[in-house]
Amino acid sequence: MKNKSFFFFYLKSLVIPIFVLFVFCSQAKYNVSDFTLGNGLRVVCIEKKTSPIIFFSIWYRCGSKNDAISKSGVAHYLEHMAFSSNKMEFSNFLEDIGAAKNAFTSLKTICFYEIFSNEHIESVFSHEAIRMVTLAIDDDIFLSEKNAILEERSTRVDNEPEGALQEAALANIFSREIAGIGIIGWKHEIEAITKEDLYDFHNKWFAPNNAIIVISGDFDLDNIKMLAEKYFGNIPSKSIDDNLKENIADPVSCIREIRYSSSKNGEHSSIEYVYRVPFFAKENLRKAIALEVAVMAMNRPAFFVKKMLKDISNCATNVVFEYESRTFPYDIVCLESSAPSIDDLDNAENLWSYLRNKLMCVGITASELDAVKQRYLISLAYEKDDIARMSNHFGWMLIGGYSVDEIQSMDDLIESISLEECNDLLREIFSQKPCAIIRAVPKGYDRE
Ligand SMILES: [Zn+2]
Repeated sequence: MKNKSFFFFYLKSLVIPIFVLFVFCSQAKYNVSDFTLGNGLRVVCIEKKTSPIIFFSIWYRCGSKNDAISKSGVAHYLEHMAFSSNKMEFSNFLEDIGAAKNAFTSLKTICFYEIFSNEHIESVFSHEAIRMVTLAIDDDIFLSEKNAILEERSTRVDNEPEGALQEAALANIFSREIAGIGIIGWKHEIEAITKEDLYDFHNKWFAPNNAIIVISGDFDLDNIKMLAEKYFGNIPSKSIDDNLKENIADPVSCIREIRYSSSKNGEHSSIEYVYRVPFFAKENLRKAIALEVAVMAMNRPAFFVKKMLKDISNCATNVVFEYESRTFPYDIVCLESSAPSIDDLDNAENLWSYLRNKLMCVGITASELDAVKQRYLISLAYEKDDIARMSNHFGWMLIGGYSVDEIQSMDDLIESISLEECNDLLREIFSQKPCAIIRAVPKGYDRE
């Protein structure tokens, strides 16, 4: 009996390594080529010949951080217009060939992407080049999109505690020079945006030397080089000065209470502690990945801080730590905790002060680190198997300022992260005072 259970234990202990090995070995190979046109347009090509499909994405190095003072929301508005104004023809074409398309705006980038059968690559190049150089805004669409954006704001920020918290956190962290704090923009500023604001933004930031094309899938590399030159080669570069907006204000300790009107999921309160990360991710990929891995370990349901706040004390319904070196463009760590009631929120805050000290002494454990490293490696392996996810991985990292070599050696980097590195970083971050503490409580609540 003993031998039998030992055998099963032994078998079980082999399952995970075999699965990991399987995932790594089953990845089809891919080749990455990287070239830059004379006008500064960079093109990164990820060849993966498993099916005759192409994922085309163009990443502009501008986002809501480039919104002018009191013009928040312009970058995001432009993303909406660049699909629905003069580009109707492009949308209709993509519709006709069965392509999928979308776009998104973050603090650092506006990205457009399409996935389609590879025979249409030339038309996509031609339309994307038109989008870079022209913007023609129809009055009716300009107004209908403004309403759509205000609606988006109301659902995602004003009626969503997480969205409201994130906006308030960003507003308290960044220097006043950055107007476009919450990506979508402040309501009164969205209302005031004019067509000229959109033209100005497009004119200033949409340029070949401020964009990166990432193409993945089944294509002929020489054909891509020819098409890039043919459609983008003659577009003149512009002088781009974007250094100012990378500055983050000095840490300011502040406590804010924001109110949101809750229309769903009952009414719960949330709190967010925001800590500055004392380095820039793009200057220190190793530290950024070590911190990301440490934060992943802290998000495991069994991690003592989460367990204590949720299961043992029952004062929080949800606890999340946030740090994403690739997609979250600025360097902060947040603890977000949702509580069933305002009293529970007070308890969660008291408990967090205690747990934070304990966290600095104890840190994460070796087995927690190993587990999340494996998970990270598996997720990267899956990304390499999927042209859309691989393009996104490259796009975010390229926009973050990393080199193709750094992107391709991520696996080795993750493997080499040590427990000491992770725990030293956690100590460094959590020994500071938070730069913001933000509470979101439902409208209408009054403390007795
Ligand atoms: Zn939108």
